[in-house]
Amino acid sequence: MTQRKPEWLKINLVSGSELASFKELKQTMRSKTLHTVCEEAKCPNIHECWASGTATFMILGDICTRACRFCAVKTGLPTELDTAEPERVAEAAEQMRLRHVVVTSVARDDLADGGAQIFAETIKAIRRRLPFASVEVLIPDFMGNWDALKVVMDARPDVLNHNIESVRRLSDRVRARAKYDRTLALLKKAKELQPDIPTKSSLMIGVGETIEEILETMDDLRSVDVNIMTIGQYLQPTKKHLNVEHYYHPDEFARLKEEGMKRGFSHVEAGPLVRSSYHAHEQATAAKET
Ligand code: SF4
Ligand code: SF4
Repeated sequence: MTQRKPEWLKINLVSGSELASFKELKQTMRSKTLHTVCEEAKCPNIHECWASGTATFMILGDICTRACRFCAVKTGLPTELDTAEPERVAEAAEQMRLRHVVVTSVARDDLADGGAQIFAETIKAIRRRLPFASVEVLIPDFMGNWDALKVVMDARPDVLNHNIESVRRLSDRVRARAKYDRTLALLKKAKELQPDIPTKSSLMIGVGETIEEILETMDDLRSVDVNIMTIGQYLQPTKKHLNVEHYYHPDEFARLKEEGMKRGFSHVEAGPLVRSSYHAHEQATAAKET
């Protein structure tokens, strides 16, 4: 049974000028027919992030070939490939004057390269229009196709992000089509391909893992030299998704952050509402400075 949501997960809605920025951003996204993970994944930080001009673009459509049990993104047969999308993302990022642009995608297991070429073109298009912005990509696992990964790494993102999502024991249950060890292998390979590009991964907790398993996951990520880790509370997007087994207290997140920093991550962002791209600019800056 899902537990009652605790007080610290209550979200403050924005008003006044912040609400105006939120609405303007929404309008920009609609006019360019772009998708954001902020909306598709029902991210609890959407008001705060959008009011401060931070958004995560979701490329390659809004229909995913996978159906992870925690994720609110639609599943099915994806639409055709939109080759003009990289330029539209770059235009929107320029219009929003972003300093740090996060680009992610649905899993496109129907494409031979998993969409890697479109990722690379999006990075290049953003660089042309916003040469001083940093670009972070949160990529799918490309089904272990390292040639596809190389295409992305050759485009030199500022941060390469790939989420571990859950501890080893629960991985198959939480995201059946992904593999815990494939995630680690991808992060290792990314470092081999471009050793100076910081890597990042996120863990979502509250689905039945133990603290020991969380610490083991940290060790596994450090064993492949991951630089940045984020840890956030799983929130059930609809009744059809996985139940929440435990709501961690903010003090527990603070202790996990300490454990992560002890293990040598350059930055750990941990908190009930932390998501992969939450305060992503600060994370990327911390990784560059170390
Ligand atoms: Fe969007 Fe990430 Fe902010 Fe959530 S945390 S609203 S996904 S930018
Ligand atoms: Fe959601 Fe990503 Fe899983 Fe697709 S692969 S269902 S977008 S978490």
